[in-house]
Amino acid sequence: LNEGLRCIGCGAEIQTDQPSELGYTPLSALKKGFENDEVLCQRCFRLRHYNEIQPVDLTDDDFRRLLDQISTTDALVVYVMDVFDFSGSLIPGLHRFVGSNPVLLVGNKVDILPHALRRAKIKEWMRQQANRAGLRPIDIALTSGKNGDDVPALLDLIEKHRARRSVYVVGVTNVGKSTLINQIIKDVTGDKKDVITTSRFPGTTLDRIEIALDDQSNIIDTPGIIHKDQMAHYLSPKDLKYVSPQKELKPRTYQLNAEQTLFMGAMARFDYVQGAKTGITAYFENNLPIHRTKLDKADLFYEKHAGELLAPPEKENLVNLPPLKRYEFKTTEKTDIVIDGLGWITVPGQVVVAAWAPKGVSVLTRKAMI
Ligand code: GDP
Repeated sequence: LNEGLRCIGCGAEIQTDQPSELGYTPLSALKKGFENDEVLCQRCFRLRHYNEIQPVDLTDDDFRRLLDQISTTDALVVYVMDVFDFSGSLIPGLHRFVGSNPVLLVGNKVDILPHALRRAKIKEWMRQQANRAGLRPIDIALTSGKNGDDVPALLDLIEKHRARRSVYVVGVTNVGKSTLINQIIKDVTGDKKDVITTSRFPGTTLDRIEIALDDQSNIIDTPGIIHKDQMAHYLSPKDLKYVSPQKELKPRTYQLNAEQTLFMGAMARFDYVQGAKTGITAYFENNLPIHRTKLDKADLFYEKHAGELLAPPEKENLVNLPPLKRYEFKTTEKTDIVIDGLGWITVPGQVVVAAWAPKGVSVLTRKAMI
């Protein structure tokens, strides 16, 4: 039915099997498209009719070519990251590809973080992390694409730094880039039509979406890049819901003795190895079950209960979860042990603790932020 058929919007070959890939159209929509003489992929359909953008997956080769283009154009690069999953939203080697272009770092999903966490501290931490990854952003903004309140301020900042140049928006999948772009479209377009167009990234099968800023420059959305070490790729959509916070995190405090363990579902584990009885505070999705047990029984407890009492993931999805890997830390001051994309635990100084996370997921420490 759809062999050789191309989307009249972006030119991608139409396919009806893989919803997250280029050119996807549900079969029913394709039939309607034939009737109306308007064959569009789902992405272009939503763009055209609802001014709404959806993410697509992207191969490394296409991504390289896309980045090549960014590095050879004089532009501002807006790099969207998830403040809750910093390592999981790093684009490896991005600093090499942006060339001499300035990078504006955007920490998205800031609505998840507790209010007690000062915004200036988050930015400072983001800057440190970015520098460690070889990136020197000219500025850092915090946004919540979901509620959209910070989008006007972001647009002001973009306007200031772009100095009449075009703007490329880049980011890995799941950081909320599409949601943010949709908010930007709302703010930029208002009632105006025809400010959004699509064209091709030269040498690739990828379409690019352009939002006109003035006669010569655009905001250009790039397809989301897959980052394989994100928690999202190990979980079913249902399990993911229990793990990805939708609302502001509420702290949960536990009085722990040495040699006690906490399990965060079956996703992660925290051992209080050595130190005096103390309060430790956990920041995870508010509905993620946390279980306390004895350290010497913890291995057995996990073996017996993972996928049932300790969930998510549910039993049938446990096979997709990489085995938990242990990281030990000795603290000198109040410290956050961060399990990227999942949450963090605040511990006092002078203790020995161990955090366990699915292999591939980063565990890092930072000076306590609250
Ligand atoms: P993309 O893959 O980067 O384009 O990300 P999406 O816009 O599709 O969003 C990925 C997931 O993050 C979805 O479950 C969204 O509901 C959620 N999300 C997006 N933006 C925000 C935000 O600002 N705050 C919160 N809490 N969640 C968000």
